[in-house]
Amino acid sequence: MSRGFSRWADNPAAAMLSFSQTTPERIPMPDPNCLFCRILAGEIPAKKIYEDDHVFAFEDINPQAPTHVLIIPKKHFAGLKEAQAEHAEIIGRCHLAAAQIARQRNIEHGYRTVLNVGPGAGQSVFHLHVHLIGGRPLSWPPG
Ligand code: 5GP
Ligand code: ZN
Repeated sequence: MSRGFSRWADNPAAAMLSFSQTTPERIPMPDPNCLFCRILAGEIPAKKIYEDDHVFAFEDINPQAPTHVLIIPKKHFAGLKEAQAEHAEIIGRCHLAAAQIARQRNIEHGYRTVLNVGPGAGQSVFHLHVHLIGGRPLSWPPG
């Protein structure tokens, strides 16, 4: 026997449809106070190295090595500490872009990808970014 619904709201399928139509997608808006969102928006110039639908890479303004590129997600989130499961793919994509840039620059003998997490580790821009550093000998441990 089929179950009848006295009101559309009692119908779980209709309720779900209604939810998806009225709830905005959880796409983080660019943060107007975020330096890297402003670079993405073209408001602040940067030397672009690579771009695809998901990530953007540009030269660091204060390079610490012959190659010092920053790779960022196009959708703003603050950093690894704030990352959710939904960010797993984009964090991977940023690293794959770093590996591709390293290959193009012939620095595969030894390079480093770095995420500074929190002010205590030197994070100064709170839009997740992977540093790609290479082109010179890199000592360990880092400072
Ligand atoms: P963090 O310290 O947050 O790990 O890294 C932020 C990086 O952004 C630093 O290496 C810094 O040199 C770089 N940076 C800061 N301001 C600018 C800018 O206006 N343009 C570019 N291209 N890099 C910047
Ligand atoms: Zn941002």
